[in-house]
Amino acid sequence: MTRDSRYDVLFDEIKIGPVTARNRFYQVPHCNGMGTEYPSAMAAMRSVKAEGGWGVVCTEECDFHHTGDIAPAIEARLWSDQDIPIMARMVDGVHEHGSLAGCELVYGGAAGHNRVSREIPMAPVAIPVEGTEPGQARAMDKQDIRNFRRWHQQGAIRARDAGFDIVYVYAGHNLCLLQHFIAARYNQRTDEYGGSIENRVRLMKEVIEDTKEAVGGTMAVAVRFGVDELLGEEGITSYGDGRAVVELLADLPDLWDVNLSEWENDSQTARFAEEGFQEPFVGWVKEVTKKPVVAVGRYTSVDRMVSLVNKGVCDFIGAARPSIADPFLPTKVKEGRIDDIRECIGCNICVSGDFMFMPMRCTQNPTKGEEWRRGWHPERIEDKASDSRVLVVGGGPAGLEAARALGQRGYEVTLAEAGTELGGHLNQVSELPGLSSWARVRDWRIGQLHKLPNVEIFMDSKLDAQQVREFGFDHVAIATGSSWRRDGIGRSHRTPIEGLHEDGIFSPNDIMDGVEVEGPVVIYDDDHYFMASTLAEKIAAQGHKVIYFTPAADVAHWTHNTMEQPRIQYRLMDIGCDLYFGKTLSTIGDQEIELTCVYSDNRSWIDRGSLVLVTMRDAHTQLYDDLVADQDALQTAGIKSVKAIGDCLAPGLIAAAVYGGHRYARELDTDEPLDEPPFRREVVGLSSDWPGG
Ligand code: ADP
Ligand code: SF4
Repeated sequence: MTRDSRYDVLFDEIKIGPVTARNRFYQVPHCNGMGTEYPSAMAAMRSVKAEGGWGVVCTEECDFHHTGDIAPAIEARLWSDQDIPIMARMVDGVHEHGSLAGCELVYGGAAGHNRVSREIPMAPVAIPVEGTEPGQARAMDKQDIRNFRRWHQQGAIRARDAGFDIVYVYAGHNLCLLQHFIAARYNQRTDEYGGSIENRVRLMKEVIEDTKEAVGGTMAVAVRFGVDELLGEEGITSYGDGRAVVELLADLPDLWDVNLSEWENDSQTARFAEEGFQEPFVGWVKEVTKKPVVAVGRYTSVDRMVSLVNKGVCDFIGAARPSIADPFLPTKVKEGRIDDIRECIGCNICVSGDFMFMPMRCTQNPTKGEEWRRGWHPERIEDKASDSRVLVVGGGPAGLEAARALGQRGYEVTLAEAGTELGGHLNQVSELPGLSSWARVRDWRIGQLHKLPNVEIFMDSKLDAQQVREFGFDHVAIATGSSWRRDGIGRSHRTPIEGLHEDGIFSPNDIMDGVEVEGPVVIYDDDHYFMASTLAEKIAAQGHKVIYFTPAADVAHWTHNTMEQPRIQYRLMDIGCDLYFGKTLSTIGDQEIELTCVYSDNRSWIDRGSLVLVTMRDAHTQLYDDLVADQDALQTAGIKSVKAIGDCLAPGLIAAAVYGGHRYARELDTDEPLDEPPFRREVVGLSSDWPGG
């Protein structure tokens, strides 16, 4: 395939201070839950991005001194020379593929807590540490400032010694000391570091100069700065202090990487922000500096990328999530394979890994985080190990991915779907308010399946056990999905709720199927992810009064992990939902329901028209159960294995269903090591500093 010449501009070489990037694709710093805890996994993940064509590949936050410790967040670290080999492994992996490696130095300050080092955090003035944790940061005196500057220089030198090409001075996401100095609400100092914006930016300026002095000739010195905090006059704004900072520092750094702060503003999900949502806030930066500018905005449209460059919005297309969903995006653009790009859906499941202190996962890219430990590559897969023919039953995310990856391996595959459309539960989920981009999980896989001549798809084919046996396949994957319960059983209720009957009680499937509801509609959320709140939006949009209640302390509690929770709660408040927290459902009456306080057992009644119970899903295991119940019949039919995958095995995230389908395909015809982990582990080396050691 040939590339559209309009895209050539994306492959210009761009100079960044003393180094040159081979193209405009810039993987900005992003957390990944691997960092120094899983160093080879982290290095392999970054290396694959370089292999996929990202001209610059950066680290996550890298804390460089124990007094600015950001643990337990699993990030990179350069506290001392001892840490250099870990970071060098990542750099080597990136250099191997001809890309530049960037290191984002961070000093947590009041946002860092120092939970490991137990040092007292430092801030421009004495303030409580971020969040609700007891403890305060102390005000920095002049000696502290001198020390901080020296530590930053030492961190930059270690980054250079690890082989990095770019080192960051970081003032973004409200997660670091330098931003706290710039933001007036944190900085009420009365010396030359406080007061006017010139004074509040002084430390940042000094640190950039220090860094250039220490490593400037050999490395580029980049600045990452959140130009707007979406706090209005109370915070940094792109028309006030944010702009002033860029004007004051204009050509001092070698590169500006600009975005919104805090992280939940920078990495908004598709439910709340369109591709390019940051453009209005950063579009002016290039007018103020002659240095290259990186901008992010969940960009996956190549035309949009080209227009950003041509319009002069930025020099580099910054990407975290688009590079996670498709590490080979630049290569696909280069080779003119635009249809093959696996576009990020903007769900932030990747982000949840960081919040839950585990290696990141991705809804679209099931190989994410598995590059080293399982040796999974996002583009390549082992050839088939036999001439087995495989039947995949069910065309939801799990079945689609299993059929696609099996087809990529070269197996003869048949995908049978009961319905008239592929996509499974995604077809309805992506119709819910704000979730239309989730359909990309389906659409990318359908597009890929159509390119595989060895995969046959049969629609309108609801199979039973007898039919499956008659077809004569060697292996059968059952991906028949799940459906929501309508009886309230779930996390908080292990037995049926008193008064349960059929009238006016609905499951999420009923609502997505379009049943008529009567107001007031009460929604019980014992699921805590997106379903109940999107149903609330859908039902409210039909003109009904909606009452939402949950045993949790807030709306859609788990979405704190995707950084959506405050926006979801605000949205439900904004559309006039009544919200009740810390309540379970105890009795269902014809016109009302009884709620019980989870703390006190106090009870109260509220009126209801319809009641929607969002609690748990039942796996559709009938076909699987029927098949495995008759082993003799399976043997007679020549079927060597039957496996349930995705929601049919256990309902969960779409990411889990895609991963389940992918894993099935990868592991077909391999021996599963049931008694040991099926992946490599990196066991931390024990110190020899031990009596007798
Ligand atoms: P998952 O998330 O695990 O992929 P979904 O619920 O999204 O699960 O998709 C399951 C798919 O399986 C649905 O499209 C459904 O129509 C299909 N399906 C269920 N039972 C059968 C069956 N017996 N034969 C063929 N397809 C089936
Ligand atoms: Fe995009 Fe979701 Fe993957 Fe994150 S998890 S990269 S938001 S598709």
